[in-house]
Amino acid sequence: CGIVGYVGPQSALDVVTAGLKRLEYRGYDSAGVAVLADGGLATAKRAGKLVNLEKELAARPLPTGSTGIGHTRWATHGGPTDANAHPHLDNAGRVAVVHNGIIENFAELRAELAERGHDLASETDTEVVAHLLAEEFSSCADLAEAMRLVCGKLLGAFTLVTVHADAPDVVVGARRNSPLVVGVGEGESFLASDVTAFIEHTRSAIELGQDQVVELRRDKVTVTGFDGAPADVRTYHIDWDASA
Ligand code: GLU
Repeated sequence: CGIVGYVGPQSALDVVTAGLKRLEYRGYDSAGVAVLADGGLATAKRAGKLVNLEKELAARPLPTGSTGIGHTRWATHGGPTDANAHPHLDNAGRVAVVHNGIIENFAELRAELAERGHDLASETDTEVVAHLLAEEFSSCADLAEAMRLVCGKLLGAFTLVTVHADAPDVVVGARRNSPLVVGVGEGESFLASDVTAFIEHTRSAIELGQDQVVELRRDKVTVTGFDGAPADVRTYHIDWDASA
């Protein structure tokens, strides 16, 4: 029910977990994070409240990295278990994806992936996206392009955010019928379901439009349509009182 992404000089895990806390009011049944560090991808996820995830992170700390994503889940497909919590990964453990919403055609996609030899580990509609992103990325080596190609295959309402161990310092998001806002900082960039997640860091924001993909880097935010056409981007100032 909440999504946060970050790339910049701070500890991505700290920014992402603080952001998830600010989104707790939306309600959720599980939480998880993924961080790019040391050339790999590290994740932690737990059913239940954020405190369960925090305990897990205290027991098995993740390496520190500058790129990360986080998620609070409101289960629609598959019960609220650790295995069904997001992020979901591909079989090589190189790509992580978090998702709010529903992928309506996941059953067909899942069957096609199974035929191509993929092993799916959860009962969620989300997991197919991680496997599809891994396939597309392996041929185009561009995470935003992989996301655009995958979104073209998905039906339903979704916000998706992903990181790939072979695309350091990049976070990619996509939205259809589900909100996603970019926070533009100085040398750092944020992505969240709503601005409360990053308002303590920046008040400069970009609302993603329908059927758009965003590529987030430290110093650059690039928005396109699912078709790859560059999108008009309007940055606005968040002027309401964050302490309210
Ligand atoms: N449909 C996905 C799931 O059940 C995402 C749910 C959500 O919006 O948090 O895992």
